[in-house]
Amino acid sequence: MTQAASHEVVIVGAGFAGLNAARGLAARGVDVLLLDRNNYHQFQPLIYQVATSQIASKDVARPLRAIFRRDRRVRVVTAEVTAIDAKTRTVTTSDGLSYQGKVLVVAAGAEVNFFGIPGAAEHAFPLYSLDDAARLRSRFLGALDAADRDSRYIDRGALNVVVVGAGPTGVETAGAVAESMTGVVPSYLSPELARAGRVYLVDMLPEVLMPFSEKSRAYAAERLRAGGVELRLGASVTEVRKDGVKLKDGSFISSRTVVWAGGLKGRSLLAGSGLPQGKGGWVDVDPDLSVPGLEGVYALGDTANIVDGAGQRLPQLGSVAQQAGHHVVRNVLADLRGGRRAPFVYRDKGIMAMIGRGAAIAELGSKHRRFTGPPAFLAWLAVHVVLMSGIRERIGAVISWLWDYCTRTRPQIVVDRPDAYEIDWSEDGEDGEEDAAASPGRDRASA
Ligand SMILES: Cc1cc2nc3c(=O)[nH]c(=O)nc-3n(C[C@H](O)[C@H](O)[C@H](O)COP(=O)(O)OP(=O)(O)OC[C@H]3O[C@@H](n4cnc5c(N)ncnc54)[C@H](O)[C@@H]3O)c2cc1C
Repeated sequence: MTQAASHEVVIVGAGFAGLNAARGLAARGVDVLLLDRNNYHQFQPLIYQVATSQIASKDVARPLRAIFRRDRRVRVVTAEVTAIDAKTRTVTTSDGLSYQGKVLVVAAGAEVNFFGIPGAAEHAFPLYSLDDAARLRSRFLGALDAADRDSRYIDRGALNVVVVGAGPTGVETAGAVAESMTGVVPSYLSPELARAGRVYLVDMLPEVLMPFSEKSRAYAAERLRAGGVELRLGASVTEVRKDGVKLKDGSFISSRTVVWAGGLKGRSLLAGSGLPQGKGGWVDVDPDLSVPGLEGVYALGDTANIVDGAGQRLPQLGSVAQQAGHHVVRNVLADLRGGRRAPFVYRDKGIMAMIGRGAAIAELGSKHRRFTGPPAFLAWLAVHVVLMSGIRERIGAVISWLWDYCTRTRPQIVVDRPDAYEIDWSEDGEDGEEDAAASPGRDRASA
C-alpha cells in the first residue's frame, strides 16, 4: 500500500448526506476529498421510476464533477472504497490508494438486507441504485418480450411481478408496475397480454406503509387494490427461486421478476473499520453526529444510527441525510478551526408516498397533516422536483412525467442490461412440481 495522501476532510459517499456536507464545507473554505464509487450523485427517491421506464436514468443521476465544476475546493475521486481505518481516519480504495483526512466523514449509505432468505440475493432484484433500476427494467422487459414470443411463458410467471416489502419503496414500485401493466403494456404488447399481468405486493407485516398513519395505510391499500395490485400481507417469504417466490403458508407465486424492497442494513464495508456498529450494522453516533471514542470521525445519513432527543432512531430518509449533511459542516469547522460542536436536531417536514396517477399520500409538517389523492399527488411531484439536483434533470423529469401522463407511452422502455434481460427458462427448481401441485392456481401465479 502506498503512503496515504493527506486532506483536510475526506468524505466517503456522495449521496444526500455526503454531497451536502461537501458543498457546505467547501463554501466555508475547507478542502474536501469526496469519494464515491459512481461518478454521479443519484436521486434515490425516483429510482423506482427509472425501473418502470417513467423517467430516464440521466434524470436521476448528475455527474459529481458537473456539480462541483466551479468549486475547486472539492476534489472528486471516483473509486470503490474497500477499507476504512477509523482510528487513523484513512480510507483505501480498490486500486490500493489511500487517503487520510484530518476529519473523516462516512456517508456511504446502506445496503440491501436479504435477511438470509434462501435465493433472495441470487434471484431477486433489489432497488437501491441506478444500476439496480436498469437491471430491473431490463428484466421486466425480458419477461414481457418472452410472453409475447410464446404465450406458454405466461403460465411460467412471465407476466407476474412480485414486490417483496410493503414499505414506501415497495408500495411506490408496486403501484408503478401495476400502472405500467394497465397503461403502458397494452400499447407495448397487446391489451390481451396486459390483462394477464399480475402484480403482487408481499409483506410479513399485516399492513402496508407502516410509518404512515392508520388512515393513510388504509387509503394506500385501497388504492393499490383498485390499481390491480394483489396484497399478500402477513405473509413471510421463505425462499426466492428463479421461477418464483415461496411463502411461509406453503403457497408459491411464479414470477421471473421479483423486486426486493424488504429492508436495508449497514454496509459490509464498515466491518473491521473500527467504527462502532449497533443494531442493524448502523454506525452509532453521538448527538453531534461524531463517532464516540474516535477523534475527528463522523457518520451521517443511512450509514448512521442517529437518534432523536427521545432516543428514537431517525428514519432512513433523504431529508434526514440532507439535514445531517448540512449540520455536520458546523461541527467539522469546530474541529478544524476551533469552536463548539452542536447536537443535530432533525426538523421533520413530513413523509410522502406515491401510489399512482392522482393517488398519493402526504403527511406534512411536524404534525403530519394528512393529504391524499390529487393534492398529495401534486405535492409529491413538486417536492421531488425541488429536491432533485440540477436544472436539466428537473426539466427532464417534468417532461417525462407530462409525456407519460398525456400519452401513456414511455420512450425510456429500453433494454440496457442484456444479462438481466435474458431469463433462464431451463427446467425450474426441483420442488417446482410439488409447489404446482400444492398451488392449483400456479398457472396464474396464485397461491
Ligand atoms: C427506492 C428508494 C426510494 C426512496 N424514496 C424516498 C423518498 O421518497 N423520500 C425520502 O426522504 N427518502 C427516500 N428514500 C431514502 C433516501 O433515498 C435515503 O435515505 C438517502 O438516499 C440516504 O442518503 P445517504 O447520503 O445517507 O446515502 P446514499 O444516498 O445511499 O449515498 C451513499 C453513497 O455512497 C456511495 N458508496 C457506498 N459505498 C461505497 C464504497 N464502498 N465506495 C465508494 N462509494 C460508496 C454510493 O455510491 C452513494 O453515492 C428512498 C430510498 C430508496 C432506495
